[in-house]
Amino acid sequence: MADTFAHTALNLVSVATALHARGWLLGTSGNLSAVIDRDPVRLAITPSGADKGDLSAGRILLIDEDSKSVGENTGKPSDESPLHIAVVKARSAGAVIHTHSVWATVLSDLHASEGGLTIEGYEMLKGLHGVSTHLHREWIPILENAQDMQTLAQSVNELLAKAPEAHAFLLRRHGVYTWGRDLSEAKRHVEILEFLLEAMGRSTEGR
Ligand code: 13P
Ligand code: ZN
Repeated sequence: MADTFAHTALNLVSVATALHARGWLLGTSGNLSAVIDRDPVRLAITPSGADKGDLSAGRILLIDEDSKSVGENTGKPSDESPLHIAVVKARSAGAVIHTHSVWATVLSDLHASEGGLTIEGYEMLKGLHGVSTHLHREWIPILENAQDMQTLAQSVNELLAKAPEAHAFLLRRHGVYTWGRDLSEAKRHVEILEFLLEAMGRSTEGR
């Protein structure tokens, strides 16, 4: 497990660095995790409050299903660890990525009263796992933002149960969560969703 953790920690840093460079993880925003073990649940996750453009593998933490740090590296796990655990359990995901892009933030507010937004008709949808046509309708639910992560994790659980096909959800005026079977699929989903959200935003909001 130590080897897997060390390898995963390096991969998390490299993905965070790439997403930071795109402007989707500016400053301390966002967090990333990858599953190390499922039974019992163990995740490698970014530390809380770290500049996502200046991470190192030695700062990545191993957490249990109560979001407690149980590895050798010291530090405070991401405040949003309970949301990562909720997604991993609900979707059997191998990795979870949360970004704070401008377009995710703008659209999460504009569509909050509808409870989500539908994206359809775009070729880029085919980059989402299991989607084979641009005619696919992707429903991205929106959840009101909150600071109590245990309560928010419970809301995430309920939201994912109601939207079993969704590849992502938005937190209002906050950002987007997506996931994948592994870290490279989760990163691909971030790229696809950020493209789609920006395309939707620019075309429907006339910007
Ligand atoms: P953490 O640094 O605790 O992961 O929080 C970042 C974030 O996304 C806050 O909304
Ligand atoms: Zn956040």
